[in-house]
Amino acid sequence: MTDNGEMIVYRLGTPCGLSDIEEGKIYEAKVQGFANFGTFVYLNSRVKGLVHKSNIKTRHSEGETVFVKVLSIRINGNIDLQEVVPTRYRLETVTKQPSNIRLSELKDRVGRQVSVDVEVAQIKQTSGPTIFTVVDETGTEDAAAFVEAGVRAFPEVQLGDMVSVSGEVMMRNNRLQIEVGNISVLAGEEREAVEKRIERAIDERAQPEDLPFMVESEVLNLLKPEMQRVAKIIRKAIFTAQPIILRHHADADGITAAVAVERAVTMLIRESGGDPDAESHLFKRAPSKAPFYEIEDVTRDLDFALKDFVRYGQKLPLILMMDNGSTEEDEPSYRMARIYDIPIVVVDHHHPDESTDAFLEAHVNPYHVGGDFGVTAGMLGAELARMIYPPVERDIRHFPAVAAVGDRSEAPERPRYLDLVADTYSEDECKEIALALDYEQFWLRFNDGREIVKDILGINPDKERHRRLVKLLVSEANLAIENQLSASMPHVTEQELPNGSKLFTIDVEMYAHRFTFPPPGKTSGEVHDILCKRHAGSPVVTLGLGPDFVVIRSRGVMMNIPLMVRELRDEVIGGGVNGGGHLVVGSIKFVEGMREKVIKELITKIGEFPAE
Ligand code: MN
Repeated sequence: MTDNGEMIVYRLGTPCGLSDIEEGKIYEAKVQGFANFGTFVYLNSRVKGLVHKSNIKTRHSEGETVFVKVLSIRINGNIDLQEVVPTRYRLETVTKQPSNIRLSELKDRVGRQVSVDVEVAQIKQTSGPTIFTVVDETGTEDAAAFVEAGVRAFPEVQLGDMVSVSGEVMMRNNRLQIEVGNISVLAGEEREAVEKRIERAIDERAQPEDLPFMVESEVLNLLKPEMQRVAKIIRKAIFTAQPIILRHHADADGITAAVAVERAVTMLIRESGGDPDAESHLFKRAPSKAPFYEIEDVTRDLDFALKDFVRYGQKLPLILMMDNGSTEEDEPSYRMARIYDIPIVVVDHHHPDESTDAFLEAHVNPYHVGGDFGVTAGMLGAELARMIYPPVERDIRHFPAVAAVGDRSEAPERPRYLDLVADTYSEDECKEIALALDYEQFWLRFNDGREIVKDILGINPDKERHRRLVKLLVSEANLAIENQLSASMPHVTEQELPNGSKLFTIDVEMYAHRFTFPPPGKTSGEVHDILCKRHAGSPVVTLGLGPDFVVIRSRGVMMNIPLMVRELRDEVIGGGVNGGGHLVVGSIKFVEGMREKVIKELITKIGEFPAE
């Protein structure tokens, strides 16, 4: 009642929900229908209540305006009303109050009505309800809205909208869900306020904890700010339900790097209320055969991402490249991704090309801070995983040691990471795990082999199976290598180069089994290892010759493979030369008809680099 005896009647604004009405106040309502125990009225399209027949003062017809006093709001969201008939009154409109309930608090409100202001991160139409995945600064939850089986509910709600969702909190298959009563799209200042609030808080929450590394490392210390940047980008993607595609080199180093991050990401998605399982498309790990992002790979990734965008109303992904991604060869694929504004981050230890950075949001690479490939992708990946989700450490402590021996690191970090896990894995055991990964990945081809790979790496609970599996794979791999070498070694040819190094060549097309393990690169590496032992102390270069490629392995020659590739491309007209890799380990490709000439020029160039 006002001073001059007017009664204040409130009119509920369109976006208002249950949380905007107060007991004891009087509201304008419209009659919806009649039951024998009373009259149903609605205060707006979202808030309905019952006037019990004992509280009805006058006769009504459907659609008629009445005034009601809120007697009580029950815990289940039901409202008890009483009709009032004011003589003098003044209308006031209630504007929506921002909801102060956050998604992380829903677990304490099961069975109750809530209203939350959130961002729509995914809209998936099932054969039943429409599932809106919503995020705020505290987490991710699903809101299920049903109009008719398989029919899109609230078609006006779009991906990326800020919305007010009201409904009942339920448990479904052990996961929280809001059973939607209403969703209203926020606009103007309301939208801006919610957007800003969520954005600012997520940005803060995404900032990784500042932890010391697992071992002492000058290079890692210098890389820390950029690693934290990458960790923050990944955490932010998780908190906003942006899918992540992790592309990695398909060798032991690349696999350990990627699985460490996969582990951290899936744990963090689960903790923040999301569903990291395959069908949710939030995380995908995909090995690449080539040490760069092939057009074939980016095409496949875009194809899936765009279909998910259309079919599941899913955001476009963040692409994370590990143990590859930092060279010119990646750029054609990056140009494709850029058409769709897909952000890319790289964690690599291959010698980077400067031009590539123009395509990247962030790029961790030891070469940027005076380090080299000895700080492997697996080391970087495991430390990055701890920045993303610190508790992951207990599962992945041994990954850097496996990566170090797998990639033959000679950096000071290698013995430190080996020492770190010496009580659980010896150096030989780390080598075995690395070999088992390489062997199994060969047969997995383009598949991630998620569960098998977890068993090989020993992060599934059954440790006995882990040991038996590694043992079996190692003996199979060694048998295959032995077979290969007994066929190949007698065909190795030798020559002396002007720089004093010994050059060995093996034709892996003619004198090695094809389409089986070990593949040409590994065969060349195994041949090289034997020759290095035989010629201890001398500089050794081994070339594995294919019909249109050469694999290069070397010791004690200070060569620069990416530089040679560039020179050969210019000098051998019509050679079609490309390729790359590390400075001293890599491969080059060319057209078959120019094989002789390219190989001859390549050998000349190798002979010109200084030998130790
Ligand atoms: Mn590597």
